[in-house]
Amino acid sequence: MAAIYLNGKLVDRQHAVVSVYDHGFLYGDGVFEGLRFYGGKIFKLREHLDRLYDSARHIALAIPQDIDSLSADTVACVAASGMVDGYVRLVVSRGEGNLGLDPRSCPKPTVIIIADAIKLYPAEMYEQGMEVITAATIRNHPDALDPRVKSLNYLNNILAKLEANRAGVPEAIMLNHLGHVAECTADNIFIVKQGVLSTPARHSGLLDGITRRTVLELAERLKITAREETLTRHDLFTADEMFLTGSGAEIVPVTRVDARPIGQGTPGTVTGRLREAYHKLVRS
Ligand code: PMP
Repeated sequence: MAAIYLNGKLVDRQHAVVSVYDHGFLYGDGVFEGLRFYGGKIFKLREHLDRLYDSARHIALAIPQDIDSLSADTVACVAASGMVDGYVRLVVSRGEGNLGLDPRSCPKPTVIIIADAIKLYPAEMYEQGMEVITAATIRNHPDALDPRVKSLNYLNNILAKLEANRAGVPEAIMLNHLGHVAECTADNIFIVKQGVLSTPARHSGLLDGITRRTVLELAERLKITAREETLTRHDLFTADEMFLTGSGAEIVPVTRVDARPIGQGTPGTVTGRLREAYHKLVRS
């Protein structure tokens, strides 16, 4: 059963509503996080909260409770759901204000916590691999809206997702303004070439994913050489393996990019080792 906290109070779904004057709704003015819980325990809660508060700071949005109090509410929301495994969505919007985008008309940010089930990609995709495209829509220029801010304004990503939909594949790789690989619409990307793991560096303009960081830590533990660097489509097309990472998606192998097979066209062994280590970690 889902549980919802709205401004610090547990509410039923029917009463979990926000104003049509909320600037989160009117302008996408707000920030969010997506987390998972396994066996009743929230994975990397502190890291997600730190990123939420950093995103909020970037847009000068003062979250009306401190990090420990929001952390306690998140834990309480998961407990109230009675679920053992699931997903948490944390949302902080600018709050209710006037028509007109000036944030000064919004005195009180809206804070929402939802604990619910998450719909994954189909299980076969994890075993057989996913097909993706590279999108023509480039990732937001970091000097316009830094992709490190996990904001409620996802139109940039949605435009790329529409391209994926039109191509009949689940995800799209987004390049940055320089033509370098950035990330997917809601996941980070990794490749493996001759046993070396690579992922676009943060300065390529991407969300500093918590699963991405976890995979880099796991690689170190498994003694897999890993690099954060500039990647181009050449690196994608010539990779031996590829996978995507995200709290929701976890680690999903990619076996085709722009209708070209990656490596043998099947999920690779390094990907498999990292997936296994990740599954162990989240349940530990
Ligand atoms: N990039 C984008 C654009 C995202 O929205 C997300 C989260 N869904 C990620 C990457 C992955 O981040 P994380 O591992 O922290 O969930």
